[in-house]
Amino acid sequence: MKCKYCEKILLDDTDLVLNYFHHIEINHYDSLDDEDKMMHDIRKKFLKSKKDYEFKKKNIGDSDLIFNTKNSEI
Ligand SMILES: [Zn+2]
Repeated sequence: MKCKYCEKILLDDTDLVLNYFHHIEINHYDSLDDEDKMMHDIRKKFLKSKKDYEFKKKNIGDSDLIFNTKNSEI
């Protein structure tokens, strides 16, 4: 996939969306028009909350595991 704002080619792998997002953030954020900027900010918030959620989920999952291990010893 080619970048919408420059000649850079981004590899079509599973991280494409994330890679493209970071590429825009670093290289083109200032040149985005208002609508694209807004979309970018929304995506940024979404990615951040998704990250927080996965982090939380992981922690809860870990404590669940500890709890279950303790339980099975009884
Ligand atoms: Zn670009």
